[in-house]
Amino acid sequence: MVDITFMRDVIVKQRQFKSQEHWNRKLLAEHANAHSPFYQQFHSGLADAPLDQLPVLTKALMMEQFDRLVTDKTVRLEDIKRYMENQGRSRYFLGRYVINATSGSSGHPAVVLWSRGEWAATMAAAFARTPMPFSLFQKRKMAQITSTTAFHMSAQGGNSVRNLLLPTLLLAATEPLESMVRRLNDWQPDVLIVYASMGRILADEQLAGCLKIAPQSVMVSSEVLTTETRRRIEQAWGPRVFNNYATTEASGLAIECDQHRGMHVMEDLVLVENVDQDNQPVPPGVFGDRLLVTPLYKRVQPLIRYVIEDRVRFSSEPCPCGRPFRLIDAIEGRAQEVLAFPKADGGAVRVHPLLFHTLLDLLPVSGWQVVQEADGLHILLARVHDALDDRQIESQVRQALAAQEAVVPPIQVQRVEAIPQTLAGKAPLVKSNLARASH
Ligand SMILES: [Zn+2]
Repeated sequence: MVDITFMRDVIVKQRQFKSQEHWNRKLLAEHANAHSPFYQQFHSGLADAPLDQLPVLTKALMMEQFDRLVTDKTVRLEDIKRYMENQGRSRYFLGRYVINATSGSSGHPAVVLWSRGEWAATMAAAFARTPMPFSLFQKRKMAQITSTTAFHMSAQGGNSVRNLLLPTLLLAATEPLESMVRRLNDWQPDVLIVYASMGRILADEQLAGCLKIAPQSVMVSSEVLTTETRRRIEQAWGPRVFNNYATTEASGLAIECDQHRGMHVMEDLVLVENVDQDNQPVPPGVFGDRLLVTPLYKRVQPLIRYVIEDRVRFSSEPCPCGRPFRLIDAIEGRAQEVLAFPKADGGAVRVHPLLFHTLLDLLPVSGWQVVQEADGLHILLARVHDALDDRQIESQVRQALAAQEAVVPPIQVQRVEAIPQTLAGKAPLVKSNLARASH
């Protein structure tokens, strides 16, 4: 006798597997070469070359060649910019595209285009892969602290998700803390989605007894999640922190599983190469200088070996959960967070953000930031809880920099009410205003 239910299950599953079969590099390359004048030239003679033989695509080149790179001839960067200026007039650009843009924190913004289907895939992947105690069809309440700029990814994601009947409280990262706390207390979210810096501030509010929520999971994204910030969030709400690594250009890249050993790269959706300065692969256990990403389902604006300036380390150990996808066990920060200092005997020394994490992250403050300016290094400390000796902090930073053979600039500790946010609502831990001026 035929088991009808079983046959139906096979057909449904078969469709699910089949629908992802075209997400492979060969079909992506064929599509790009057939419809993108830029790739016809850029990959000329390389049709059969392995991925690591293809040239890398920088943000600058992608933006410069925007109109030639996209595979829809009716898409023009000039029109997108005009659309972005009139934000909110229509939901989709040309009635069919979602537009995102990176914030200015990494120099000139990148404009990123997704078809509605591609955008749905990024949302679905994020939901499917996040080990949160909820599905789209369960009544759970979510609260998301979002960017205030409409074209930043977290704002786009929040808007899309809200329309999926998942009751969501969207708060702007720029909202005053007191009203944010009040609204979160009223809402009582099951799931909290925040940037790392905001997660730390809210955890402090919870520990101080002002915020009284009990989320079942706290999803942290966009910024480096330091050990101390994770510790405070866990102290406030328990070991329910899930770090999520996403970039505007490639959307979700990796998500933490319930073993909390790192984040699994979504390797069935995106190819990720961890490379050094010369774009040569680095082994697991070693930090690379940048990532080269190739999102397999992104066809309107194909990105093949696109440069993401993040320093990431892959784990050399398999994850106990048994997923086949590689684990990223540490993100040291964006390349922009590496500060350059002159060396006494000439040349320059590159100081990694980890030096500052080690020195400043354990201080009893709700946030910190190191800013390199022409007149020296400014260390901002937000909402200092206990007695702190500014001179001692200065001297520790001075010694650590001197140990790296840097010519140490004047160091000034400043106490502030809050760490200034970028337009996208983020608060980078380390930044240089020198580098930006010279770019
Ligand atoms: Zn795992």
